[in-house]
Amino acid sequence: MNTLDFITEELGKLKESGLFVNIRAIEGPQGAWITVDGKKVFNLCSNNYLGLANDTQLKSAAKKAIETYGVGPAAVRTIAGTTTLHKELERKLALFKGAESTISFQSGFCANLAVIPAIVGEDDVVFSDELNHASIIDGCRLSRAKIVRYEHCNPKDLQAKISGEKKDKRFLIITDGVFSMEGDIAPLPEIVAIARNFRAITMVDDAHGEGVLGRGGRGIIDHFNLHGKVDIEVGTLSKAFGVVGGYIAGSKRLTDYLTQKGRPFLFSSAVTAADVAACIAAVDTLTASDSLVKQLWENTTSFQEKMRQIGFNLGHTKTPITPVMTGDVKIAKDFSQQLFEEGIFAQAIGYPTVPAGEARIRVMISAAHSRDDLVWATKRFEKIGKSLGILR
Ligand SMILES: *Cc1c(COP(=O)(O)O)cnc(C)c1O
Repeated sequence: MNTLDFITEELGKLKESGLFVNIRAIEGPQGAWITVDGKKVFNLCSNNYLGLANDTQLKSAAKKAIETYGVGPAAVRTIAGTTTLHKELERKLALFKGAESTISFQSGFCANLAVIPAIVGEDDVVFSDELNHASIIDGCRLSRAKIVRYEHCNPKDLQAKISGEKKDKRFLIITDGVFSMEGDIAPLPEIVAIARNFRAITMVDDAHGEGVLGRGGRGIIDHFNLHGKVDIEVGTLSKAFGVVGGYIAGSKRLTDYLTQKGRPFLFSSAVTAADVAACIAAVDTLTASDSLVKQLWENTTSFQEKMRQIGFNLGHTKTPITPVMTGDVKIAKDFSQQLFEEGIFAQAIGYPTVPAGEARIRVMISAAHSRDDLVWATKRFEKIGKSLGILR
């Protein structure tokens, strides 16, 4: 008997129930086509919305930064200082997002863990959409505030729940901007209106919205023209921006406060100069032109139109995140496996990531995909969908 024997048992349970995740090994860079476990496949899995993950300009900026700044930050920013590059990224991001200020973190996950416990504590209440991202849920738990979940994208339920709480507490309403498994968009104008009535702080996590929604990919605040009306905006640099890192956008006093109170900022080293230089190049690229964002939407519209014509149920998506509903999780897994054999990499998603009976293939569209390849992919989907009996 060993004290860690329970792990063997837990892993066994995961494998029996089909929930154990096998992680595929990728050889080479991210792109429309990648080599997975030795096989060349069309990539419909990644969050590389704009194809920036292997962009020439981003790569040369990263190389140059290594020559100038070296490879490691040597300590946390409050102790060893911060590079001028980090400051430049934060300034350019604020301009791009139309925010007064931004502060960068190691990841979007870290940004949520930093900001939520800095804003609310034991005596406060957080109202959180029931489908919010895991990093929001963990940030809420860390804060020790009371967590009240409201129905997904349902302002009426939010209104009812917030009315039920004592008004002398600090209220924080948090929502994902774009929901990663559904592709739907949070009703932010309604949420902002409710927040105003109850003097609640508002926070949106724009991880899947930036580089996608709004003018030239400026995100959900720009999409709804809510500049200055949302207190806290969370972002990631690992999706459309194609690199790694996270940030908070908002007022200068908010970002100043987080340099003093954001624990991942205070106690964990920042991302490297190479990462930051690549992020700056990504922001420069998006600031200079909206052509990649336009391409992303053209690809999205044509793929989704074709898939709906074929007869697939794509749920409630309003964005490039495209759930192809199969219902049964077993069918989703067979579908994903058969797609892979036909040369397409697309992940099956089942319970507990989505509700039982709502399994799906999750297709992520990118500006890097060619129109011909997307048409070819819809034909493979049609063939397999028919053979698995989910198309009439
Ligand atoms: C992906 C995601 C994150 C995490 O971002 P990382 O930079 O990968 O840590 C946070 N929030 C939401 C809503 C996300 O979709």
